[in-house]
Amino acid sequence: MSSSTPEVVVIGSGLGGLVAAALLARHGKSVVVCESHTIPGGAAHGFTRQGFRFDSGPSFFSGLGDPDSRNPLRQVLDVLEEPIRAIAYDPLGYYHLPEGTLPVYRQLADYRREVTKFTPQGAAELEAFVTRLLALYKPLSQIPSLGLRPDFGVVPFLLRYPKALLGLLPQLRAVQKSAGQLLDQTVRDPWVRQLIDLECFLLSGLDAHGTIAPEVAFVFGERETAPVDYPVGGSEALVNALVRGLKKWGGELRLGTHVEQILVEQGRTCGVRLKSGEVIAAETVISNATLWDTYTQLLAPDDLPAAFREREIATPAVNSFMHLHLGIDAAGLDDLAVHHVVVHRRDQALESPGNTCMISIPSVLDPALAPPDKHVVHAYTLEPWGEWQRDDTYAQRKQERAKPLYQALAKVIPDIRDRVEVELIGTPLTHQRFLRRYQGTYGPAISAAQGLFPNCRTPIQGLLRVGDSTLPGIGVPAVAASGILCAHSLVPPSQTASLVASLVSARGRSQ
Ligand SMILES: Cc1cc2nc3c(=O)[nH]c(=O)nc-3n(C[C@H](O)[C@H](O)[C@H](O)COP(=O)(O)OP(=O)(O)OC[C@H]3O[C@@H](n4cnc5c(N)ncnc54)[C@H](O)[C@@H]3O)c2cc1C
Repeated sequence: MSSSTPEVVVIGSGLGGLVAAALLARHGKSVVVCESHTIPGGAAHGFTRQGFRFDSGPSFFSGLGDPDSRNPLRQVLDVLEEPIRAIAYDPLGYYHLPEGTLPVYRQLADYRREVTKFTPQGAAELEAFVTRLLALYKPLSQIPSLGLRPDFGVVPFLLRYPKALLGLLPQLRAVQKSAGQLLDQTVRDPWVRQLIDLECFLLSGLDAHGTIAPEVAFVFGERETAPVDYPVGGSEALVNALVRGLKKWGGELRLGTHVEQILVEQGRTCGVRLKSGEVIAAETVISNATLWDTYTQLLAPDDLPAAFREREIATPAVNSFMHLHLGIDAAGLDDLAVHHVVVHRRDQALESPGNTCMISIPSVLDPALAPPDKHVVHAYTLEPWGEWQRDDTYAQRKQERAKPLYQALAKVIPDIRDRVEVELIGTPLTHQRFLRRYQGTYGPAISAAQGLFPNCRTPIQGLLRVGDSTLPGIGVPAVAASGILCAHSLVPPSQTASLVASLVSARGRSQ
């Protein structure tokens, strides 16, 4: 079908937008994805400078290379028939804490052994907490996320998994709890409580009481049962696989195509207008822009009920980031590990700017990401939007605010400053500019106490949303699940069922 009259226009090629678009194409719909940037992938896009291939965002993954994976992204790639290769590793990271360095192994027994060196009592309590999460994970993991729908059509699908439903019954209260509430029931040790807050913070940008229990259960469950792995070629390999899948099933991706407005007539969307002035008519529009950008930039105020608009745009946002992308000399760095988290100070909150620094050196696993004898490094930490503007002091402030990242890196590579061959410092302004995200935010700060993230529907007929400001939330698996939910709101349950059947048969064939 001609791209000038697609059935669906998707605004944005983040992982959420691409999953929704590729699945809809797989379901036989005509789909056009319009992406502002000249590179697809949003927060997960990759870029290259002087032979160094950088991840712009995510670098912690799991279950990508597992043929039985519960990871929703892997399930989508399976039905798109777009296999990817991933490299498994363990420990999944080193947490450099003020009290010492903790190697974090993926399986509980090993994790517990290392925690025992810091606090034997806390290690026993950690085991009780993780065991509680695994009880929640087990029934959830038996239901393929590829079959999820945001409507009652999900009921017949769920009924095909009676064992999982029975297993979920005793867990129903935990499903609605925060990880912090489960923590309160199982862990008193202050050090382990801080550790679990850190684990939750790395996931959601919030502490354990702010993070929903099923999300944390999924992460610990996956660690226990599936490889922690990194895609060969970096996060852009995932994006490229989705783009190939989209195109193979007839969808179209238009890069460098900024959508200026979602067109609405009498409470119904009828397409989008591009920055170029071109109008793409469509009965369905899916916005992968954040909720703030969708409701304030892409729609006119009158398009939405006033109370709804006010409530939605008042949603608090997690801060943005300082990024350090480095290409470095790798001479003598033979035993380097790929992932590190550094907490500088205990007397500051984890989310305090510069205090918690994440480090990824993926060329340790995939040397092709850097020239020979070099490494590619990405370090990042939260940074508020408020103080940033492009003025005479910008360059100097970038250097200043990158210092905590260099200090964190020095814990891993003491002479890091002497090794730098390429240095790119990103600020919240960079993050906002290249990802088109409101204030460069990581995503909505919707605490578990406030309830769930909003679903994909909007008050405007034909307008849906997808990505990390919709259910289930932030992070690659969650965003892939949001793409599944969004796509399946547009097809009948019979099509969802046949997609799940093709997943089962694709997996059967590959075994
Ligand atoms: C620094 C960082 C590290 C992270 N690390 C991890 C990790 O290790 N593991 C993990 O699981 N998750 C991680 N995450 C989270 C995860 O990467 C994100 O939640 C996810 O990639 C977001 O995808 P999305 O589809 O919601 O939106 P986005 O990636 O934000 O994509 C939205 C797209 O829409 C486009 N767009 C917006 N407005 C318009 C418009 N008007 N017209 C056209 N296009 C438009 C944007 O250009 C963008 O490409 C990390 C995120 C960041 C920022």
